[in-house]
Amino acid sequence: MNAAPAPAAPFTPLQNSTLAGNYFISNYPPFSFWSENQNAEVAAAIATTSAPDTKLGLYHHIPFCRKRCHFCYFRVYTDKNAQDIQTYLDATITELKTLVDQPLYRGRKPHFVYFGGGTPSYLSAKQLHELTDKLKAVLPWDAAQEVAFEAEPGTLNPGKLTAIKDIGVTRLSLGVEHFDDHVLEINGRAHRSAEVFTAYERARAENFSQINIDLIAGMLEETEALWQRNITQTLALRPDSVTIYQMEVPYNTTIYKEMKAEGKLAAPVADWQTKRRWVKEAFAALESAGYTIASGYTAVLDPQRTKFVYRDELWTGADLIGLGVASFSHAAGVHYQNLTEIDAYLAAIHARERPTKRAFRTSPEELMIREFILQMKLGRVQLGYFVEKFHVKLADRFATQFGHLAAEGFLTVSDTTVQLTRDGLLCVDTLLHEFFLAHHRTSKIV
Ligand code: SF4
Repeated sequence: MNAAPAPAAPFTPLQNSTLAGNYFISNYPPFSFWSENQNAEVAAAIATTSAPDTKLGLYHHIPFCRKRCHFCYFRVYTDKNAQDIQTYLDATITELKTLVDQPLYRGRKPHFVYFGGGTPSYLSAKQLHELTDKLKAVLPWDAAQEVAFEAEPGTLNPGKLTAIKDIGVTRLSLGVEHFDDHVLEINGRAHRSAEVFTAYERARAENFSQINIDLIAGMLEETEALWQRNITQTLALRPDSVTIYQMEVPYNTTIYKEMKAEGKLAAPVADWQTKRRWVKEAFAALESAGYTIASGYTAVLDPQRTKFVYRDELWTGADLIGLGVASFSHAAGVHYQNLTEIDAYLAAIHARERPTKRAFRTSPEELMIREFILQMKLGRVQLGYFVEKFHVKLADRFATQFGHLAAEGFLTVSDTTVQLTRDGLLCVDTLLHEFFLAHHRTSKIV
């Protein structure tokens, strides 16, 4: 690719207060540039064949939760009965059946499987067995290197955990978020710390290959002492991996609605400087305890054994079949998201229509930038990978951006590697905007 370098935007100083909006970058180009009414574009994408060696993943979205957390911006449902859930699960199987015979997927098997939400562990053991039996009958998983599953600790009774293990889950991710009961309550979480400890013990007894704990730095009413206790309690459990997000307050959260009603611009949570320091201290404590920092959000105990296939394959261009309401897919360079309301999703499936909400066909240059910014979140990017795959010399293509980010102390560039410093890694999502094409730079990434 020989596209001329885009002029770099002036460097924006890091904001300090937590203002409303999303800071976490999960894809590129930003969702605000995706278009609606794109069923034809998706149909064209899945009618092609994949580039050789492109991995395939399967994502299944469970949009049900016991309770809505005050910081949650996902479309979740807390009022559905067993019949509603069955109808939804059956629709996702129908959706999969419409896809597997398409040229893009014919003869391929998923390299990784991910159950996300919402709360996948909200399903009963019986629902989990029936769902996964049907999924496997349509698209066998026997080649999957990883089956990842998100769980809310308060839903994990012993029978549930045995079912999660029996269906083939290898990576269990516990949405702990915090160990203090008052913080959990004030943030609207459904579980309490006692359920975390019980669930963790039961999960260990089930011998999952990998247990991850999710934490959030800077929840409502977080304090220095409580954050330090979070770190101590995490180290005491010694999970295989720890994921720490910095609290953001997107526009459609309960917290934002209250801010708006009170006329406040800054969210009532710690500022970005404090949240970055808390994660920095947690990373340092985890490193002292033998963990390795594997990304801007993750520490792993044994990097040789503990992989995160879903993340690593998606960030190197895998195709992804996303099933269910609001799920995201990637099909041969076309990104798309399903309809985000459950009734509209079900109506489309029952009418035998594609349930596409919005989509974006990426150019080769956009695909390159997407992989670069996502891999930067790992803290290190191999320059040779981009020469081989995209015929791009990143040191030339991004010379301006690398120059001033290096001057700010956020990264270094060698002949082989771009390496973020720890301070750069802790604010990586903010830095990544620098690498967007000029017409994709906005102040609000949603
Ligand atoms: S459990 Fe997760 S998906 Fe469900 S409401 Fe809370 S943050 Fe949202």
